[in-house]
Amino acid sequence: MKYVFGPVPSRRLGRSLGVDLVPYKHCSFDCVYCQLGATRHKTVERKRFVDIGDVISELELVVPHVRADYITMSGSGEPTLFLGLGELIQRIKRLTEIPVAAITNGSLMACPEVREELLGADLVIPSLDAATQDVFEKINRPFPGIRIEDIARGIEEFSAEYSGKLWIEVMMVRGINDSEDEIDRMWSALKLIGAEKIQLNTVERPPAEAFARPLSRAEMERVRRRFGDRAELIAASGICGDTEKLPDSPARIGQDKPEKGAGCERVLELLRRRPCTVHDIARGLGMNINEAAKFVGILMEGGLVSTQRREDGEAYFVANETN
Ligand code: SF4
Repeated sequence: MKYVFGPVPSRRLGRSLGVDLVPYKHCSFDCVYCQLGATRHKTVERKRFVDIGDVISELELVVPHVRADYITMSGSGEPTLFLGLGELIQRIKRLTEIPVAAITNGSLMACPEVREELLGADLVIPSLDAATQDVFEKINRPFPGIRIEDIARGIEEFSAEYSGKLWIEVMMVRGINDSEDEIDRMWSALKLIGAEKIQLNTVERPPAEAFARPLSRAEMERVRRRFGDRAELIAASGICGDTEKLPDSPARIGQDKPEKGAGCERVLELLRRRPCTVHDIARGLGMNINEAAKFVGILMEGGLVSTQRREDGEAYFVANETN
């Protein structure tokens, strides 16, 4: 499979069958917290990166044999950069009754065509990590010319015309977007959007930049209370859309669904042989990068894997010694 991966277990989406629509790290942002490392191709140019017929052919093969709660447009870059997203969503809707989710950094939601294309999805999850341009540029490092007020207004306009579920994802980073003033301004923007849920993340796994530090649980709770009843805390992998709710106890391999355990075992086996980046793991095991990141996260939560940052700035994962 070239474009379809999973289903990946996700606490917020259940079993999510992923569709990767853009090349690795083609993104309009270069977020300080991105687990995939630095953006290789920062762009706002929408392209037909994949052939819709090829994606549909893969889904026709996979869908009858899997149980999935969502088919999710996500992946290793920004999915709204795929020109043809709306057409693809419509064709998936004709193929199956499985709901379609789209996870986006929101950067192109100021664009009416993109909003129109997203209307066909059953669930849309845009990110909003800032309210002021200064903080936006520090945390998301956008393509030049993108303005946070245009994104917020675009999401607000989308909310007014959209009949599906709209959840907003907010990533909190210590010392960047956690001031009282920024949180108040974000809340003002979020109130106007009126999303069904506000999902709060903080940095948990090795981010693009070592200076991207998480908020404590107590600080996250404070932000959650500020954002009201619709806000909830979720743990983050630092890749858009690949998140889980904070677990009450550490997840460990073998305690979960069999396919999750098997994936973790394969990743652990590779890391016992040599340290790898998440990209190395995906390439080495023929996995989608989101799957690889998910398994690494589970292994880290279980204390079986840790990270080392090399001189080149890349985060490498290593298997911990076990007795
Ligand atoms: S976190 Fe998402 S939006 Fe940010 S750089 Fe990574 S892929 Fe792009």
